[in-house]
Amino acid sequence: MKSDDPRKSLARDTVLAHGGRHPDDYGGAVNTPVVRASTILSPTLAAWDAKTRDMMAGVPGTYYGRFGTPTHRDLEDALTALEGAHRTALFPSGYAACAAAILSTTKAGGHVLLPDSVYFPVRKVASGLLAKMNVSCTFYDPAIGAGIEALLRPETDCVYMEAPGSLTFEMQDVPAITRVCRARGVLTALDNTWATPLYFRPIEHGVDMSVQAATKYVVGHSDAMLGYVACASSAVFDALARTSMDLGYSVSADDAFLGARGLRTMSVRLERQGRTGLALAELFAQQPEVEKVLHPARPDFPGHDLWKRDFSGTSGLFGVVFRPMSRARFAVFVDTLEHFGIGASWGGYESLVMPMNPKPLRTATAWPHEGPCLRVHAGLEDEGDLVADLVHAFAVMRALP
Ligand SMILES: *Cc1c(COP(=O)(O)O)cnc(C)c1O
Repeated sequence: MKSDDPRKSLARDTVLAHGGRHPDDYGGAVNTPVVRASTILSPTLAAWDAKTRDMMAGVPGTYYGRFGTPTHRDLEDALTALEGAHRTALFPSGYAACAAAILSTTKAGGHVLLPDSVYFPVRKVASGLLAKMNVSCTFYDPAIGAGIEALLRPETDCVYMEAPGSLTFEMQDVPAITRVCRARGVLTALDNTWATPLYFRPIEHGVDMSVQAATKYVVGHSDAMLGYVACASSAVFDALARTSMDLGYSVSADDAFLGARGLRTMSVRLERQGRTGLALAELFAQQPEVEKVLHPARPDFPGHDLWKRDFSGTSGLFGVVFRPMSRARFAVFVDTLEHFGIGASWGGYESLVMPMNPKPLRTATAWPHEGPCLRVHAGLEDEGDLVADLVHAFAVMRALP
């Protein structure tokens, strides 16, 4: 967003409610409707010529269905305001946004740095697509901070971050890393899905590309796949848009609509889910079967100081490391839960647990624990019911011989 835009000074909740809405354009309807289109008509040759010129110059607009309609543009504008960005591009999934952000920075012979705690499919892009393009990757300890400098090479194009990390929740010193990268002319991208731009604003901390799996808290209802990348500058956005066009990415207008619909209530959902998540984390921490709780907002978690310094809130996702036990015993705990579904993804209104094993997914750091692990997502159910469900499952497990 330009600095002379008066919306810049609005609080985030107000941006959530008003960003990217133009009721006058839609007969007064509060929400931008679902505009589905492939062909976008021009009334005259002059209008066609103007549109073609604008499209070539990268001016936001509706040119052809693949590049989006007003449903997409309005959502992008709301996200741009929320992120304090120059411009935002939507992607058909969070993963597509992650991969496109990386791809837009690099070329054959290039080099990319990825944190050891990166979302697993992004880890696979290193040995897959990037390897095929002759781009090399180095995985780094997410706690590296300014020490990232020692890993930069003349051909390094991008330092990718994710904080907290997937599954294991390691925090990263984002400003320390972006300071080094800016000085060396290396681009940075950060997967900010856990905090959302409500609790951490990557661009304010020097990040070039703020990546979000909007499938999670933005959509918020477990019913659509969506991603976006908010860019700090026009140069970064142009390269990203080029990559997206090259790959032919296109987002359904229905899914963009669901993203905008979810965005309006994201703040109240996150506030409640963050609070419930902390209560559940505390309950886990008190159980003798639990070795460790992985939650950046808890003072005993390494990286808590970074969370306190840079983040303004917590979402409802955290990890639990159990003491070593048989799979059968662990299964009794998980299967006894009534209100927690077993499943991947998160950010919806419903509580979830996902069994996980970080050990084989780490190469730059060692996962020191032997016991089974769960990722827990706090939904919008009553906190007392969720706590009672966990207490009951612990009791059933404890009663086993
Ligand atoms: C889920 C997730 C993604 C991928 O998002 P999809 O929409 O599922 O493709 C990327 N990063 C993080 C941290 C995620 O949790």
